[in-house]
Amino acid sequence: MPDIQKVLIANRGEIALRIHRACHEMGIRTVAVHSTADADAMHVRLADEAVCIGPPSATDSYLNIPNIISAAEIAHADAIHPGYGFLSENAQFAEIVEAHNLIWIGPKPEHIRTMGDKVEAKRTAGALGLPLVPGSDGAIEDVAEAKRLARDIGYPVIIKAASGGGGRGMKVCASEDQLKTLMAQAGSEAKAAFGDATVYMEKYLGDPRHIEFQVFGDGEGNAIHLGERDCSLQRRHQKVLEEAPSPVISAEQRAEMGGIVAKAMAEMGYRGAGTIEFLYENGEFYFIEMNTRLQVEHPVTEMITGLDLVREQIRIAEGKGLTLRQDDVQFRGHAIEVRINAEDPATFAPSPGLVKNFHAPGGMNVRVDSGLYSGYRVPPYYDSMVAKLIVYGTTRDGAMRRLRRALEEFVIEGIRTTIPLHQAVIEDPEFLSGDYTIKWLEEWLQKQQ
Ligand code: ADP
Repeated sequence: MPDIQKVLIANRGEIALRIHRACHEMGIRTVAVHSTADADAMHVRLADEAVCIGPPSATDSYLNIPNIISAAEIAHADAIHPGYGFLSENAQFAEIVEAHNLIWIGPKPEHIRTMGDKVEAKRTAGALGLPLVPGSDGAIEDVAEAKRLARDIGYPVIIKAASGGGGRGMKVCASEDQLKTLMAQAGSEAKAAFGDATVYMEKYLGDPRHIEFQVFGDGEGNAIHLGERDCSLQRRHQKVLEEAPSPVISAEQRAEMGGIVAKAMAEMGYRGAGTIEFLYENGEFYFIEMNTRLQVEHPVTEMITGLDLVREQIRIAEGKGLTLRQDDVQFRGHAIEVRINAEDPATFAPSPGLVKNFHAPGGMNVRVDSGLYSGYRVPPYYDSMVAKLIVYGTTRDGAMRRLRRALEEFVIEGIRTTIPLHQAVIEDPEFLSGDYTIKWLEEWLQKQQ
């Protein structure tokens, strides 16, 4: 595989900037693609070249495969980085990229396909020796089967869409009389959102944490893990704040579970970056899914390992393998990321519009990944996340104090953002103690009303 000279970044917002930055540090030129609504976006301004790929609607632009491939050909890019979301976990897109003699900066298409189907993913993970949430062996076909299974597992159960994502297509079911209705609802919601009505069933864990492991494989049977991230602070099954390491995982547990996931990835011949997500309750891990891409929260891992994960992805795509062996990976200190959304901090109503004033915090061990600038207009068409603030400290306490200070400094005027929410959460003694689960934030929000 030749060295990559020019990468087309098939994404927008902060992740497009993130990829651009890694490329420029490696001496690689970049091509931005953008919708007509993003002509003024920072990723377009910074990239070496930019190609408009369609109207505002994501379906016609950031998900428009023919236009993206044409843009790569026009600009003579030799590789495509998909970022997260959009086409990043679309196996067919990965195949099309490779069929056009472009380097796909991502996992092998067959692994994207397997892990994209959550039923297949669970089966594969089980076969590779990962601990699973008790549940159906595969898809569930009818209500009678669901009832039998739920009796075995014990209520509450959760019905999940095989092709679900972003916390959608999930229904918690407390008793048998709800099963029929909720199963039908989950199926039709999944059909509408993902074009696939397949559902499966899991035991609904009462009060778990969400803990995920970052992995990297070279595609040749070598793989490492970069420790865990704790993403238990969630609203509507979506992550709000992430930290690494987890306040509840010991070095021994990290080495043990990390070893298991790395071995599984090595056996699969996995290539590139991936995340194995677990629920964690009473000292036990339960696999829920694998994401075959870079995650929003990857910077917390970068902070505690000192590794540039996008650079790793690019090097692997070039066939250069992993820069580190497992023994070389060292974990230092503590990192926290908050997701800043253009939303009302109390009602979570979207708040796009003109950013009248923008000032990002700085100082030691503070990182801001954002495409915002004064005078930028946040378009209403896309995800509401407009910035990530990541801080590092030698201890969790220190990182928390730095986060408080950095949030105080952050100025985003003209639109509403979730900064005040983060400021309030990190004053809560329970949160500060590290004793919180995936239910904690929703309960906390109710108490604030
Ligand atoms: P998605 O791909 O939509 O993000 P996941 O399977 O990763 O779906 O689950 C997202 C979140 O939903 C988890 O972090 C957790 O909060 C909740 N969840 C999923 N499965 C279960 C379960 N079996 N028990 C309790 N909560 C669950």
